[in-house]
Amino acid sequence: MSFSEFELDTRLEKGIATLGYSKPTRVQQLAIPEALDGLDILASAPTGTGKTAAFLIPAIQYLLDFPRNAPGFARVLVLAPTRELAYQIHEVAQGLASSTDLKVGVVTGGINYGSHRDIFEKNNDILIATPGRLIEYMDAESFHCENVEILVLDEADRMLDMGFRGFMTRIAEDSRNRKQAMLLSATLEGRGIIEFSQQVLTEAARIEADAPRRERGKIIEWTHLADSADHKFELLLHYLAQEDVTKSIVFVKTREKLDALVQKLQSHDIYAAYLQGDMPQDKRLKAIERMKAGKATVLVATDVAARGIDIVDVSHVFNFDMPRTADIYVHRIGRTARAGAKGYAVSFIEAHDMAITQKIERYTNQQFKHRKIKGLEPKHKEARIPVKKKKVVHKKKAAKLTKKNAKKGGKK
Ligand code: AMP
Repeated sequence: MSFSEFELDTRLEKGIATLGYSKPTRVQQLAIPEALDGLDILASAPTGTGKTAAFLIPAIQYLLDFPRNAPGFARVLVLAPTRELAYQIHEVAQGLASSTDLKVGVVTGGINYGSHRDIFEKNNDILIATPGRLIEYMDAESFHCENVEILVLDEADRMLDMGFRGFMTRIAEDSRNRKQAMLLSATLEGRGIIEFSQQVLTEAARIEADAPRRERGKIIEWTHLADSADHKFELLLHYLAQEDVTKSIVFVKTREKLDALVQKLQSHDIYAAYLQGDMPQDKRLKAIERMKAGKATVLVATDVAARGIDIVDVSHVFNFDMPRTADIYVHRIGRTARAGAKGYAVSFIEAHDMAITQKIERYTNQQFKHRKIKGLEPKHKEARIPVKKKKVVHKKKAAKLTKKNAKKGGKK
């Protein structure tokens, strides 16, 4: 199947080509025809399925079919849970609309009010927003939803989880003049999301796209035993000098450790981008942009700061400091091997990391292979912590014992 089968406006087809999409993904194949027919959409579509274009393509086609006849606020409103997602949607929307006159704006928390002012004045056709900040503008009467013709709630399950239900309901009620609504969620399970979708959608086409397992590449994991933070740094330097380490994310435990590592790298002429929790939004975006554009090849981040970022071509994830929990480990290493590529996850383990390392092994059902690098071998040996085993009594044996005991009791 190709995009031409949707009979889209040639300007929109050009935009699709600009983004390099040659054929629609499954969720696009399923959702676009229904949405072009004007139906409400209820889609289970996790990240990575192509869900963004699945709602933007029909929305843009609508705007091109029915051009604006009076100035006003946005006609397509997209709500997203996080700033990063909002900016990613913005990027795709700008690409798709690049051969049209449509204007696309984005409004999120963490950016000065001043820089948003023109967003509302410019007659945006498509506005992408996080719910909290949009409500602030609505309260200040700098924006209203009366002109919204298509309402999109992306990652609605996450927005509900984040406690945005009240805001979402109010925005949905205020955009009562809409002709269409689309709700996307990683899953359509759970009472919250079902109830909410019933409240917002009317006779929606239900679309299910599986998680893009096919598009996931393989992650190859190994570890290095390390004697100290300095030893870990030497190991990291070794890796960063390798040709196949083209783009990496280095995870550290705390902000202080992040500062120290970034400076140490600088003293070795490695100018890493970095993300820390309390960074202003424009600086965050710049750091992510530097990585995406390949201007920086190393990103140092804490777990909190790295939430929600999506950089496609990360070759290596380094756990400079081990994470606190096993599921954070799995989350961290998932930053590589995107879009079908192979990825590598390398962890540096000090003696005090043994407990969490073994936890991760149990959680991921594998035993790590410790590698050594010539000249950088560890002095300490692996000291595995013995796992306390619960006494397991086999079922049959237990039954026998009970019988025996019963007999004994009987003899008495
Ligand atoms: P999404 O699920 O919208 O976050 O998209 C996941 C990734 O797939 C993004 O990097 C998109 O640019 C990419 N993508 C979306 N649609 C297509 C398509 N039809 N062909 C190729 N890549 C696509």
